[in-house]
Amino acid sequence: MKRFACHLFIGVAAIAALSAHAEEPSWHQPHKPFQVYGNTYYVGTEGLSAILITSPQGDILIDGTLQRNAPLIEANIRALGFRIEDVRVILNSHAHSDHAGAIAELAAASGAHVRASAAGARALMAGGNDPEDPQFGEALRYPPVAHVDVVPDGGTVRVGNIELTAHYTPGHTPGSTSWTWRSCAGGRCLDMVYADSLSAISSDGFHFSDDATHAHRVEDFRRSLTTIAALPCDILMVPHPDAIGFMEKVTARDRGRQPNPLIDPHACQAYAAAAGVKLEARLARERQDHATH
Ligand SMILES: [Zn+2]
Repeated sequence: MKRFACHLFIGVAAIAALSAHAEEPSWHQPHKPFQVYGNTYYVGTEGLSAILITSPQGDILIDGTLQRNAPLIEANIRALGFRIEDVRVILNSHAHSDHAGAIAELAAASGAHVRASAAGARALMAGGNDPEDPQFGEALRYPPVAHVDVVPDGGTVRVGNIELTAHYTPGHTPGSTSWTWRSCAGGRCLDMVYADSLSAISSDGFHFSDDATHAHRVEDFRRSLTTIAALPCDILMVPHPDAIGFMEKVTARDRGRQPNPLIDPHACQAYAAAAGVKLEARLARERQDHATH
């Protein structure tokens, strides 16, 4: 089974080399795992986040990164003194190969349940082959996840004393989801946010603004920005750490900079605002396109 999935992936990867969305080297570059805050740990690579949240009763993993990174993620979990077998639930930001590629393999290795938004679950079970995705046709496929349970918008996921809330934030993909929870250290509890990607990128020819099959696509995208800006937000993490200079903040924190650069109650607002500027620029280009055709 594993071998089949592997061959399948190589075949798809060969096709995908022709696509505009080639893999960045940092996406599979190993990174030493570290504690973000309290029971929240970073177990991803240099350029792709995977977040482990631990409890004595079991752990939760958000995102798996690329399919080829599965052994790296497992090794990072082990290096922190935890066990892949203790991961009870795997969650996802959005069902693109750079965040969901390894989930099938990590679910098999851990026995964890995979849970996602309604549209996210469909895309994960289709191995990223989602006709509703703005990047449909160019997004890389990956091994499908056999079974995914749906978490409703505003729904919670619990393992031991961990409780995460799902916030549907469609835009980058229809199933895009942001996750919030609290982590505590030394009696201080902070609001943790794993906000999904907000980039309005697509396959050639796709328009966010005049997609007849999704009249509300732009409206939904704008509402997602408002949702993220309003989240209780002390520490922001995102699927692509370089989108918020996350590793630089971690380095500064580890050098003892005070106050802790990772703690920034305005980080979610700033992330949403920056994405809003890019979204409006993209929509302006689409209007121009439209006017000239
Ligand atoms: Zn993506």
